[in-house]
Amino acid sequence: MEIKKAIFLIMFLSLVLAPALTQASSLVLHYPDIILYNGKVVTVDKNFNIAQAVAIRDGKFLVVGKNADIQALIGPNTKKIDLKGKTVLPGLIDSHNHMEEAGEALYKVPLGKAKTVAEALTLIKEWAAKTKPGEWIRGGGWHPLAQLQEKRYLTRWEIDSVAPDNPVFLPTVGHFVMCNSYAMRLAGITKDTPNPPGGEIQRDPMTGEPNGVFAEAAIPLVSNVVPPWPFDLRVKMYKDAMQIFNSGGLTSVVVGVTDPESFKIYQHIWDKREATMRVSLMYCPTGEAIPAESLEEWKRIIRGIGCYSDFGDDWLSFSGIKLIVDGGMTLRTAYMRDPYPHDTTYYGSLLIPPERLNKLVAICNRYNWRVGIHCVGDAAIDKVLDAYEYANKDKSIAGRRFILIHASLMQLDQMERAKKLGVRVDLQNDFMWDKAATVERFLGKEKANRACPTRWMIDHMGIGSIGAGTDYPVNTYNPFINMYVMVTRKDKNGVVYGANQAITRQEALRLYTNGSAAYSFKEDVKGSIEPGKLADLVVISNDILTCPEESIKDIKPVTTIVGGKIVYESK
Ligand SMILES: [Zn+2]
Repeated sequence: MEIKKAIFLIMFLSLVLAPALTQASSLVLHYPDIILYNGKVVTVDKNFNIAQAVAIRDGKFLVVGKNADIQALIGPNTKKIDLKGKTVLPGLIDSHNHMEEAGEALYKVPLGKAKTVAEALTLIKEWAAKTKPGEWIRGGGWHPLAQLQEKRYLTRWEIDSVAPDNPVFLPTVGHFVMCNSYAMRLAGITKDTPNPPGGEIQRDPMTGEPNGVFAEAAIPLVSNVVPPWPFDLRVKMYKDAMQIFNSGGLTSVVVGVTDPESFKIYQHIWDKREATMRVSLMYCPTGEAIPAESLEEWKRIIRGIGCYSDFGDDWLSFSGIKLIVDGGMTLRTAYMRDPYPHDTTYYGSLLIPPERLNKLVAICNRYNWRVGIHCVGDAAIDKVLDAYEYANKDKSIAGRRFILIHASLMQLDQMERAKKLGVRVDLQNDFMWDKAATVERFLGKEKANRACPTRWMIDHMGIGSIGAGTDYPVNTYNPFINMYVMVTRKDKNGVVYGANQAITRQEALRLYTNGSAAYSFKEDVKGSIEPGKLADLVVISNDILTCPEESIKDIKPVTTIVGGKIVYESK
């Protein structure tokens, strides 16, 4: 609604109708519920307009404009927030993360802070001391290869030395887990257990004994015996996670992997209207992003879901089916066109054979599910684009926004191909915050410089086809650190990687708002501060458009509002 129309409406109601209405409550309906004024409102609308104030009613922006315009609308019950010059952004949208782990982390050994093998073992020992014998001990997402001085995983024997009486299960950032002998006993893993297709049970080179490290498709051999958390505890964890993300200025997320059990938790919170975060889900109907089912079974499962992608509302929706085809650039498993440095026969891991990938994707497409595929290395991206082309021949994917998730080492020719297919990319620059040196170590300086090629992506694919995310807990969920990396290309030690891939602050904001909203086809309802859109916003501590570049990473959310409700206020 335009300002004039809104003012006219209020005046009309007060002058013409109000005398006829004796019940004040009838009139109150038309006043804003809340106004924020005296600020710098960065709308991130089409023209990047800046306003001073906003009025919100029924969870949506009513009017955006000058202080006087907004103050004229104040009613008896309107809550007034004086911004005192602070900057307001549209609520930030993280288009790839595993948010729920922020809640689960409170119940896991906090291994993220360990810097050496000894420190990691001490943390496990302390956790074991407060855990009853026989109870499972779980670890949080951590990255031993990047964070430990020794650059290696823990062995089962090391974990046994500090926690012999508990089964211990320690996932890393997604593609490796470690466990101790107790857990392996429960899982029935012995020296004779063969590697499953697409997975590896790592072994001691001398004795051939499994050493407690499981990779890729071998992970379920152990994860399947870890008992699930109780339902009510999981509900609490997910709600806690939403609040933790709200405190970062986030109002919407796309969750990268959701199995049917996790979906029930999200639906429960949605049903109770207790969500403080808008959530779109990448769905794994079999529970695994590398499905083991036959194509016949896969078809039956996809058809059997009974709805298709983007079903849902502004609070909860299914964004697509999630698959994974390679590893990571920080794990030495990204599947590459060129062999890895120091080993001319090694190209990384391809986790789904191309023929099969084509068919898995085509089946999803047949039943109107779009697909988002984890692909990091350029060769993996080739295979995913092949699969999207294959599916497209069977049934058009035009306008459906199939997704390349990560696409960290995407090449220019692939951007052109993606653009032709209407495929979007959701990337996470903050991999290059604390893991850039690891990328350089595994892949060399040239590839580290062109990792997360954001400048090229924007120029060749168009900014509306790209979203920003973090892949939390692999990386921090802090959007301001992520935007700092986008703008400066600096890692946390100040080393610049690929200065030619830097983007502007305005572009970084677009990726975190409009671009990420388009992931779930919601760009018309959120991602900018405009009348009629969902009233999601964040008030921040420093002006991201004018503060010194080095200060961007230190910006803190002051107030976060979702659907017109305050969900976070800094103390
Ligand atoms: Zn992820």
